[in-house]
Amino acid sequence: MFLRKRALERIAKERVLYERHPHGDIAACLIYPNIYRLGMANLGFQAVYHIFDRDPHVAIDRAFLPEPDERELMRTRGVPIHSFEHDRPLSDFDILAFSISFETDYLNVLSILELARIPLRRSERAGRHYPLIIAGGSAVFLNPEPIADFIDLFLIGEGEEMIPEFLARYHDCRARGVQGEGKLAELAKVVGAYRPDCFAPIYDETGRLREVAYNGPGEPRVKRRLIRDLDRFTTSSMILTEESVFGDMYLVEASRGCQWGCRFCAAGFMYRPIRYRSPDRLIAEAERGLGERKVIGLVGAEMASVPGIASIAEAVADRGGRLSPSSMKADCISPELARALARNGNNSVTIAPEAGSERMRKVINKNLTEAEILRAAHTMIGEGVENLKLYFMLGLPEEQDEDVIGIAHLTAKLLEQGRIAKQRIGRVTISLNAFVPKPWTPFQWDPMENGRSLKRKIALLRRHLAQLGRIELDAESPREAYFQTLVSRGDRRVGSIIERLNAERRYEPGAIWHGLAAIRREIESGVDNGLPDPDRFVHRAYAQDELLPWDFIDHHIEKWFLLSERKKAHYHHQTPPCDVTQCKVCGAC
Ligand code: SF4
Repeated sequence: MFLRKRALERIAKERVLYERHPHGDIAACLIYPNIYRLGMANLGFQAVYHIFDRDPHVAIDRAFLPEPDERELMRTRGVPIHSFEHDRPLSDFDILAFSISFETDYLNVLSILELARIPLRRSERAGRHYPLIIAGGSAVFLNPEPIADFIDLFLIGEGEEMIPEFLARYHDCRARGVQGEGKLAELAKVVGAYRPDCFAPIYDETGRLREVAYNGPGEPRVKRRLIRDLDRFTTSSMILTEESVFGDMYLVEASRGCQWGCRFCAAGFMYRPIRYRSPDRLIAEAERGLGERKVIGLVGAEMASVPGIASIAEAVADRGGRLSPSSMKADCISPELARALARNGNNSVTIAPEAGSERMRKVINKNLTEAEILRAAHTMIGEGVENLKLYFMLGLPEEQDEDVIGIAHLTAKLLEQGRIAKQRIGRVTISLNAFVPKPWTPFQWDPMENGRSLKRKIALLRRHLAQLGRIELDAESPREAYFQTLVSRGDRRVGSIIERLNAERRYEPGAIWHGLAAIRREIESGVDNGLPDPDRFVHRAYAQDELLPWDFIDHHIEKWFLLSERKKAHYHHQTPPCDVTQCKVCGAC
């Protein structure tokens, strides 16, 4: 009763901004593998929900990871997880569709299946009557392998392009009475569908992936799919709720991909080529949003390069609202944009130099000089922004101590510049994250730096920042980055590690870390726990000629291009931003 009461209270507080469709006969539940307030802040989740809801053959529902107290209650009372809207056990649906944006949520996928009393492994469900379990989202674009043993079918590509086709085939199978293997084979014909039971990884005696045996029809290569013209679709808030982490905002997606090619950034490579929504569409969406919220959250990889961004910000400010871009490249912030952003009370802005020294910014291909960063800060503060957040990474390939100290030097120059210009600078926060190597980037072969070394660098930076006074340092624990790297770079064997963490109920970052440490200790002391050593996925440099777990996906990016970018990083050479009108170099255009 308590569980249902909370869901009903949440539903009552939601505002649905589109007309819901009459229900069809395919019962599908879209699942966000994290808690409600995070799921409802995810524009991708909302967009996919809307696509399912538009299909006349589908009755769509939602589910989220229960809060810790709800999970406890479900376990102690033996109550399975139910869907959010219609209070239906998840095992009753035809389709359970996981929308996974973050690979660290892979663990929650298992937790939800267990709470639904559905066998976790696909092999344990075979031949029995369970919902079809599918997964999509940016995490599985990059590397679905850590959960490949638990999912029936992945959709590798953007939902607008794939879901209608998937649902049409599902409906057709139902109309013709095609079930089981026949239905799965039919659904796997959707271009971009990945059916993991047709792919069998084979490892050599050293534990490296030697080959992937394929026993399905056609080519053993999965073509990821993207839409070409974003203006054909609307990706904005569909359901508003105050409880969402962006509860005060109406979210509008401005772009997919990024033209800048930062070498650590998965979004900049996996979503190539860069696609923008037109300024007219963005202004129209922002106007619609201003009827609901005062703040328009503009979502995308890099927002200062969006065509017409200053006029969009002005249009929002003219109507009494405020534009809040998700992230901006410092040198692209024009005085007009800064002025428009600072109007109507925007007193805090994030700038992402990513690295403290000029040398390191060349290594990562940031195409950003110190002078440009200082100019951006000067412009923003001059226009009335008070608080600055500077975002950096630690542990990047080629990084030396002087690059870390460079973060403090850059911060000092920024403060000094403000003092000389008599600007009022409020709070300056340095946000630090450990570098996590991601598939499909030029740094995919590089290891994550070990925790001890990262902690030493954090302490080093803290000492240098302390000399500046009034600087807040917000440093993410390297332990969290360890798990993120494991599930980013892991192969199918990592699934058993996730399974064990789930069995031991280790869901919080500290508990996950201790669970992984226990696994490593067992392996070091010769205990045969049947698990691979997590360190080999986290701290090992992958060889350039090694078959990588995600190589079977065709992301339309040539491997030689990623390797050449990695080599250029080593020599501190930069690559200019994408020019999609003429360039064909990486293979994406
Ligand atoms: S082909 Fe050129 S412009 Fe297109 S995504 Fe690749 S690098 Fe960018």
